[in-house]
Amino acid sequence: MIVHMSQSATSEQIEQVTERIRALNRRPHVRRGERTVIGVPGLGDGGRQELEALRAAPGVESVRPPEHPYPLAGRLPGQGRTVVEAGGVRFGGGEVVVIAGPCSVESREQLSETARAVAAAGASMLRGGAYKPRTSPYDFQGLGLEALGLLREAGAETGLPVVTEVLSTEDVEVVAEFADVLQVGARNMQNFALLRRLASAPRPVLLKRGPSATVREWLLAAEYLLSGGNADVILCERGIKTFETETRNTLDLAGLALARELSHLPVIADPSHATGRRSLVPAASRAAVAAGADGLMVEVHPRPERALSDGPQSLDLEGFAALMRGLRAPLPPVARRAELKESYQEEAGELV
Ligand code: PEP
Ligand code: MN
Repeated sequence: MIVHMSQSATSEQIEQVTERIRALNRRPHVRRGERTVIGVPGLGDGGRQELEALRAAPGVESVRPPEHPYPLAGRLPGQGRTVVEAGGVRFGGGEVVVIAGPCSVESREQLSETARAVAAAGASMLRGGAYKPRTSPYDFQGLGLEALGLLREAGAETGLPVVTEVLSTEDVEVVAEFADVLQVGARNMQNFALLRRLASAPRPVLLKRGPSATVREWLLAAEYLLSGGNADVILCERGIKTFETETRNTLDLAGLALARELSHLPVIADPSHATGRRSLVPAASRAAVAAGADGLMVEVHPRPERALSDGPQSLDLEGFAALMRGLRAPLPPVARRAELKESYQEEAGELV
C-alpha cells in the first residue's frame, strides 16, 4: 500500500506516520517530494484496522494500492540511474563492468588459473558456480561449500570480488559469508521465498531474467528485493526462450534497453548463456554494450573442451583477452554518401 501525505503535512506528521507503520511491524519507504508518499509492503495483510489506523492519522490524505506496478524498481520521470556498489565495484556508474570466470568451480587449479588470466585481461569481478542449477539430476551439481572456499581464495589472490549463485533459502547465509554478490539464477527468478530471504541479506543481488519472463515480471521480481529492504540490485539479461534452436537462447537487446528505460537499476548482459556458442560471445557482448549494458558476465575456462558445465559457450583464456581488446576498439564509422561528405565538409570546415 502507499500512504499519500497531504501537501500541507508537516515533518512531524510524516515522522509520526512512519512511527505508526513501524509499530505495525511494517517497513516504511519514504519518498519526499512536493507531496510525500510512503510505500509500505504488506500493509493491510493484517486486516482492515491497519489501514484505518493510518487513514485516521493527521497529515494523511489517502492510503491506497500503488498506481505503478513496481514503484521502487521503476524509474520516475527525471530520475537518474542508481549506482550499485558491490565489493568495491560500481555498476551503473558509466563504465562497463566485466565479470568473468568459469560456469562451475571445478578445482583450485582451474579456478586460480582462470582468475589470474581474467584479472590480467581487465575483468573487474570473478564468477564461478558452487551450487549449480542443472537441467538433469545426473549432471555435475557443483562442489558446494568447497567451491565457496576456493572462490574466496582466488578472489583474495587476484583482488577480484566474487559473485556466485545461491540456489536455495538454506544456503543464503553461508553464500553471503563467502561471496560479495549473490546471484539469483534464471530458473529462480520467480522463487519468491528465495527473493524474500535475499531482501534481507547483507549483500547485493544479481538478478537474472527468467528464460520465459517478461520484462515486467523481471522488474516485479526486483521489486520483491527492494520492497523487502535490499536496495542493491543488479539486473542481468541472459537470453530468453524463442523458436530459435541454433542458439541456446535469444539475447533480448531491446528488453535490456527497455529495462534500463523503465528502471533506474543497473542492467548487465550475459552473452554466454544468451548464445550458448563461444563464437557468438564477442558479437553479443559488443551489441549489449552498444544497447547500453552497464556490464557483462562472461564464462571463461582454461580448457573449455574439458569443462564440467557449459564448455561450448566458454571462452578460453586467450579468447577472453581478445574479447576485452575488442570491447575497447571503436565501432566502425557509419558511411556518408560522397556528395553529403563534401557539403558537410564545406559547412563544418576543420571539424570533419
Ligand atoms: C550460470 O550463470 O552459470 C547460470 C546457470 O546462469 P542462468 O541462471 O542464466 O542459466
Ligand atoms: Mn553456466
